[in-house]
Amino acid sequence: MPHKYYLLKKYEVLKSSDVFRLIRRLNANEDPIYFATLEAMYDIIKRAHIATGHGGHNKMVKELTKKYANITHDTISIYKSLCIKCHSYNELEFTASVITDLKLLWPDLVMVHRKPRHPQSQGSVERTNCDIKHMLVAGWVINKPQTGQLD
Ligand SMILES: [Zn+2]
Repeated sequence: MPHKYYLLKKYEVLKSSDVFRLIRRLNANEDPIYFATLEAMYDIIKRAHIATGHGGHNKMVKELTKKYANITHDTISIYKSLCIKCHSYNELEFTASVITDLKLLWPDLVMVHRKPRHPQSQGSVERTNCDIKHMLVAGWVINKPQTGQLD
């Protein structure tokens, strides 16, 4: 079978108002599966991400693959990795879970929040991290946790 007949069998063009859209050929009673144009893809993924309440990768895949034929897992991953709101949420959640774990392992731990003195200087940030690491190791040795072990 020549290639163009294969394509004609597989795809069709749907006309709604004055817009033509390429779709995967429908079986009876099926909703059309659209091909997102490159220009529209960002907005489509964004809408799905917001509609799922900043949903995770799987939620977005589920939402998008039932309607679109050409939105890949990679594209969704890239969008997700660039969402500022998801990022700040994940960082807060990550920090909270680290603090919770540390408190479990080390009940006497007191967290002190302090702004970095030189936020621009990578060196001072690294030194601060290093200091904290030494403090944690020292605390670990002196004040061994009673519960559990490190995973
Ligand atoms: Zn998000």
